[in-house]
Amino acid sequence: MNLADKIRTIPDFPKEGIAFKDITTLLKDPAAYKEAINRIAERYESKDIDLILGIEARGFLIGAPLALKLDKGFVPVRKEGKLPGDVVKTEYDLEYGSNIIEIHKDAIEQGAKVLIVDDLLATGGTVKATVDLVEQLGGEVVEIAFLMELGFLDGREKIGDYEVFSLIIDE
Ligand code: 5GP
Repeated sequence: MNLADKIRTIPDFPKEGIAFKDITTLLKDPAAYKEAINRIAERYESKDIDLILGIEARGFLIGAPLALKLDKGFVPVRKEGKLPGDVVKTEYDLEYGSNIIEIHKDAIEQGAKVLIVDDLLATGGTVKATVDLVEQLGGEVVEIAFLMELGFLDGREKIGDYEVFSLIIDE
């Protein structure tokens, strides 16, 4: 199945000039959703991973089924003010302004091997900040996985020296 065909592009969302990749069409197709999760899972079946970490909100839709499939625990990274326990946080720049994301302080044990998951890699700012949270807690980022990558934005360069896997790459 060509999974790229299951993701539609919405022009001028969330603002003029942005071509937004909408994954809801893939999620709604049970065969496509299952194939996407199975194909990402295949890559990690034999890798040494302790935890899957998903980024709010669409990262949960990829990370949680992946965690179940791989029989690993799932840890959410959330926007500021959503997690009830003690948190560590990091701030990162957006095109206009900035954003804060958080993780529970006790979510990652020292030395835990973490797979970070999100739906889409654009400029890399969100995932770079997530790497920072994992490392603040003493975790080790084994790899970073995306359903889709916008290759032309060079997000990989911003992420730096980490293994990055994307199921679908839009060059
Ligand atoms: P970045 O920080 O890499 O520039 O942006 C990636 C984050 O923004 C991800 O959490 C992703 O969910 C969201 N994002 C940015 N652009 C898109 C897009 O076109 N489609 C989807 N589905 N998410 C996007």
